[in-house]
Amino acid sequence: AKTLRLILGDQLNLQHRWFARADKDVYYTLLEVKQEQEYVHQHVQKIMAFFAAMRNFAHQLEKAGHQVIYIKLDDDHNTHDFEKNIKRLIKEYHFERFEYQLPDEYRLDEQLRNLCLDLKIEAAAADTEHFYTSRDDLKNFFGDRKSYLMESFYRNMRVKYGIMMNDKDPIGDRWNFDAENRKKYDGKVPLPRPLVHKHNLSELKQMIDQMGVSYFGRVGEKHFEWPLSRKEALESLRYFCKNLLPHFGTYEDAMLQNHASLFHSRLSFALNTKMISPREVVSAVLAAWDQDREHISIAQVEGYVRQVIGWREFMRGVYWAQMPGYAELNYFNHKTKLPGWYWTGETKMNCLNKCINQSLDLAWAHHIQRLMVIGNFSMLMGAHPDEVDAWYLGVYIDAIQWVEITNTRGMSQFADGGIVGSKPYASSAAYINRMSDYCKHCHYDYKKKYGEGACPFNSLYWNFLDAHRDKFGKNPRMGMVYKNLNNMNPEELQRILEQAEDYLGRLEEL
Ligand code: FAD
Ligand code: SF4
Repeated sequence: AKTLRLILGDQLNLQHRWFARADKDVYYTLLEVKQEQEYVHQHVQKIMAFFAAMRNFAHQLEKAGHQVIYIKLDDDHNTHDFEKNIKRLIKEYHFERFEYQLPDEYRLDEQLRNLCLDLKIEAAAADTEHFYTSRDDLKNFFGDRKSYLMESFYRNMRVKYGIMMNDKDPIGDRWNFDAENRKKYDGKVPLPRPLVHKHNLSELKQMIDQMGVSYFGRVGEKHFEWPLSRKEALESLRYFCKNLLPHFGTYEDAMLQNHASLFHSRLSFALNTKMISPREVVSAVLAAWDQDREHISIAQVEGYVRQVIGWREFMRGVYWAQMPGYAELNYFNHKTKLPGWYWTGETKMNCLNKCINQSLDLAWAHHIQRLMVIGNFSMLMGAHPDEVDAWYLGVYIDAIQWVEITNTRGMSQFADGGIVGSKPYASSAAYINRMSDYCKHCHYDYKKKYGEGACPFNSLYWNFLDAHRDKFGKNPRMGMVYKNLNNMNPEELQRILEQAEDYLGRLEEL
């Protein structure tokens, strides 16, 4: 039957069985629609990256002999949502069958399911053939349990897929090398430059501007750095294995104000658009380790594999187990709006200034910048999780709801009350000072809890703990911090709480 197959912007998987051979009855369509630019206010680089990668993908398909109907944002016939465009194409080309790949996002999943019910032709959905796990694997693994433990999911993944295993035991006899990893950067090993892919996307940017798409963030005049094709994604993967993997784990939590990504792989956009698969990434990392055990220790490899087969697949499973209710959770009943400097970076708090400016420049930050600086502050200031989600979903190049919301609302804001993590990722300036060089260059004093120039993270941290004694006072993982809080001189605590109140009353000025 004459078939129309839809490919979404995050389904750029050239290895998919759909593309094994060209078929004269099959047409592929990729649609640049305003619907996807407007559901959340986005970074200009995120919009550009998706369009550019989609255009490259369409070109690859055509080169391989497939028939492609590509609708650009400024095409006259573009109706700017999926339903209308698809219905029009079906009519115009007399398609007899419609197929799509299962979206990773709840919103699109519903939309496409409803569309199919409405169509007068046969319709079917196919798997994306990208993830290790299916949507429901995590739900089946944990059953009715109220919280999910990443560590048990991860160990099960290692066993199930035989990754770094000696029969039933983990290679190296340990599952976790965190004790060796997560060090502050000490300058002992040189920092390699990140691999940047140079594209000139000025025409695409012009089209986005002409079409009146609203966006925020910045983009360089001449260059655009992200991998936008499978070829470039594979180059980034090779570069990572050779130059960055040897120190990935050791410095995975370190932050530097003059080096955005340290030893991180910057593969999240390529992975989330499915230009490369997690299996390819894991195989490449394991092969690199096999070839060079002298320079690459098991701690580096385990640290990386944990992110890809552990956290990434875990978050996707949590998403499908918990949506749509997850998007409404607000455990602390936080209500505050984010201050305006989240969109400009203009704050005197150096850590936030650097992490936000970096996010505005690159549409990317690494996990500790997202978690322990921006996310931590958002939670301590009592930001509404809807606001925080919208910011993260908009700003990061790799942000797609299944992986954004679980990390942001769950891991970083604890708005899910502990489904993803067993305690909130809250910290004072001590942690930020330990893991970065931000505090050295800051207007505020990381050692001071109150008074002139006191670092806001400190008073807000104790204020947060004090306000939630009922929730965490008995949490065994927070025993130490509550002991410290309980031993605090009441007058000192009073001054800290007053300082917090003062800062909360003038967030815009901080
Ligand atoms: P590396 O550090 O090199 O890690 C390798 C890969 O592991 C990543 O590419 C990613 O695919 C995977 N990974 C690592 N950590 C996680 C995690 N916590 N959850 C899922 N996958 C992970 N990642 C996204 O892809 N999209 C998001 O929208 C997103 N939002 C986040 C929001 C917050 C508050 C936090 C704390 C983390 C978020 N992450 C998100 C996870 C992580 O920050 C990014 O995947 C990572 O920074 C991407 O850079 P990288 O490719 O260099 O990662
Ligand atoms: Fe951030 Fe406080 Fe350190 Fe300044 S002193 S960089 S605000 S943690």
